[in-house]
Formats: sequence, structure tokens, C-alpha cells
Amino acid sequence: MKIDLHATLRAHNTFGFDVSADYLAYLTEANDIPLFIQKAEEQQAPWQVFGGGSNLVLAADLQGYTGLMQIKGRRLHDQTDTHVFIEAKAGEDWHDFVDWTLEQGYGGLENLALIPGTVGATPIQNIGAYGLELSQVMDSLEAFDTKTKKWVKLTVAQCQFSYRHSIFKNDPKRYIVSSVCFKLPKLWQPNLTYAELAKAFADKVEKKQKITPRDIFDKVCEIRSAKLPNPKILGNSGSFFHNPIVTSDQHQELKNRYPNLVAYPANLTGGDWKLAAGWLIDQCGFKGYQSGRVGVYEKQALVLVNHGGGTGKELLALAQQIQVKVFDTFQVQLTIEPVIYS
Ligand code: FAD
Ligand code: NAP
Repeated sequence: MKIDLHATLRAHNTFGFDVSADYLAYLTEANDIPLFIQKAEEQQAPWQVFGGGSNLVLAADLQGYTGLMQIKGRRLHDQTDTHVFIEAKAGEDWHDFVDWTLEQGYGGLENLALIPGTVGATPIQNIGAYGLELSQVMDSLEAFDTKTKKWVKLTVAQCQFSYRHSIFKNDPKRYIVSSVCFKLPKLWQPNLTYAELAKAFADKVEKKQKITPRDIFDKVCEIRSAKLPNPKILGNSGSFFHNPIVTSDQHQELKNRYPNLVAYPANLTGGDWKLAAGWLIDQCGFKGYQSGRVGVYEKQALVLVNHGGGTGKELLALAQQIQVKVFDTFQVQLTIEPVIYS
């Protein structure tokens, strides 16, 4: 296991914040994981494991051991009459993996195209986009349990997934994911539940023309590229706040005050509503706002950006400014999505 001392993490977080790690360890095989934990514990040093750094706010130098998940590998693991089971190691790039599954002829992950980061991080916040969540396509995962020091296999049910949430968020230092297994249907059907996709394919659906997983993959990439800043050009972590969930009464009261409020039923059964956080922030006048070297993306108010040379502390100050204004205006509390190291 290669370890660098006093290494900058600038290239390892998509905001491009220039903080350093005391020890930066490259985890390239499963056995590196217990070794990494052992080293940190022997020295009673703190530790953390990152993938692509696309859901992090690094607001201070990191003490102790930082592990970069780089274990590679992907394969058809198993199949039944109805499904294929595909395994990918935690250090695989997520988008490349999705692309590869389509090349192999396995549809099912295409709605989650172009999400940055690694396979191993996808269960952490149960990634979701364009009408699909990881929990709908994951079968199980393998992880090192840092408490019992044993390897475990966790099923979807054991991961306790909900909207951008999982068991890993409740107990962040317990498991280090080494691989994820996906269950994809052999009889593929397009998932056009998201309005933008339904609109894009309405003509084909009406004319009963064939839609392929690759068609959806390409469309999702096209929509996302037009709306979201490329982190390689403008530092960001995607959506900075969760879409807040409010009760039916709160929703009605807000709707009376703001008839244009953008909100969706939070689930099929309950009466709760999910508010579009980007709309709330936009209404407070923040879209395109710049505060020193950090700001709010001009095309999407839910995305905070580093214009260059900014720091995590500056970004968190801006986030707080937004939270206060949104609360004063709508009495709705925004919570931050990326994981903060300060
Ligand atoms: P990191 O940022 O490196 O880590 C995130 C957290 O996961 C940290 O707490 C880390 O400790 C933990 N972690 C990482 N790997 C492991 C592991 N192997 N085992 C245990 N813990 C681990 N998210 C969505 O859900 N939907 C989107 O549509 C979406 N779009 C985005 C668009 C852009 C432009 C950007 C920049 C981000 C977007 N994100 C989106 C957020 C982010 O890409 C995802 O959450 C992604 O899964 C994070 O992967 P990562 O490897 O970069 O994780
Ligand atoms: P959008 O289409 O402008 O919609 C705003 C929000 O409304 C979305 O977050 C979405 O919630 C919700 N929404 C829209 N249509 C919906 C429907 N038919 N049913 C239920 N909820 C609906 O959103 P966007 O910012 O361009 O993002 C598009 C998709 O990519 C979304 O799914 C979003 O979550 C995902 N995305 C996530 C990140 C991230 O970092 N987490 C970054 C970029 C994009 P949902 O979030 O529940 O879908």
C-alpha cells in the first residue's frame, strides 16, 4: 500500500479545495483496507476513506490517515432466467461502469449516467437522479466492518436506504465498501418516470418506436451537461442541499403564499411533500450570486461553486447565508448534502 506524506487533496475533491492529508494511502486491493485501519488504530490517528471526492467539503487539513479507494474490477457475477448480477469493485469510476454495462448489453443503470465518483460511494447516500435510485438496482455489497474487523455482505434491506440516505450515513465510520453487486433485469423497460425524460421520448413512445438503454444514457448525459457545471472546469459537488421534505399542511400553507412553489409528493403513500430546494434558493435571489471566490451557479441555484482559489470555510459561510435567508423567507431548514470535514 503506497502512502504519501503531507499530500495535497486538491485533485481529489471536485471543489478543488487545497487542503492536505497527513498520510494519503492508496487502497488498490481489498487487503489494503484492514491494513489501513490497523495502521491508523495503532497510532491512535483519525482516518477517513474517499472515492472521487465529489460529495465532500474539505474545509481544513486532514489529520491522520486518508484512504483513496482505487480497487478496480468489474464482471458478470451470476445470472438467472430473469436477471443478471454484475459486480464492480469500489474504486471503479461510476459513469465508466454504467457505460460498460450498456456495452455488455445490460440496461438498467442508464438513468444514473454522468454522476461523478466511485462505485463504492454510490450506496453511501443512495445516489439518485432522473427517476432512479441506487436502491432499486443494487443487490448487495461487500464491506469491511471496522468494528468487528470482519468482511460482511449487506443486502439492500440491511443498507436501510431512503431518500439520499443509508445506514452508512447513520454510522459513517463503521463500514468501508469494497464492492457492489447490481441486479439488472434481462427484460429491460425504459424508465421515463422523470418529466424531462418523458418529454424527450414522448414522440418515440407515441409512434411506438424502439428506445434503447443507450438512447436514455445519451439523453441523460445531454441534459446533465447542459445544466450542471463540469467539476473539471468549475469546482462543485452537484446539489449542495437536500430537497426538504415538509408535511402536507406546511406544503399547503406555502402553496397559498407562493402559488408557483415547485414541489412533488415525497412518496406514494404518505402525505409529505418534497420541495425543490433550488427553487427556494432562486426565489431568495441567490442564483449567480458571488461571494469572493465562491458562489452560486448561474444556471442552477442548488449548486455552489468554487470560482478558483476559494476555501471550504468560505463556501460553508455562503451556505449558512443561504440557509438563513431561506429559513427567514419560507421557514424551511435546508440541510447540506455533501460530507463536511472542518
Ligand atoms: P466521495 O465524495 O469521495 O465520498 C463521499 C462520502 O462517501 C464520504 O463520506 C466518504 O467517506 C464516503 N465513501 C466514499 N467511498 C467509500 C467507500 N468505498 N466505503 C465507505 N465510504 C465511502 N449525487 C446523486 O445522488 N445524484 C446526482 O445526480 C449527483 N450529481 C452530481 C453532479 C455533480 C456535477 C457532482 C460534482 C456531484 C453529484 N452528485 C450526485 C454527488 C456525488 O457525485 C455522489 O454522491 C457520488 O456517489 C460520490 O462519490 P465519490 O466517490 O466522489 O464519494
Ligand atoms: P429538476 O429537474 O430541476 O427538478 C428539481 C427537483 O424536483 C429535483 O431535485 C427532483 O427531485 C424534483 N423532481 C423533478 N421532477 C420530479 C418528479 N416528476 N417527481 C418527483 N420529483 C421530481 O432537477 P435537477 O437539479 O435538474 O436534477 C435532475 C436530477 O438529477 C434530479 O433527480 C436530481 O436529484 C439529480 N441531481 C442530483 C445531484 C446531486 O448532487 N445530488 C446533482 C445534480 C442532479 P429528486 O432529486 O428526488 O429527483
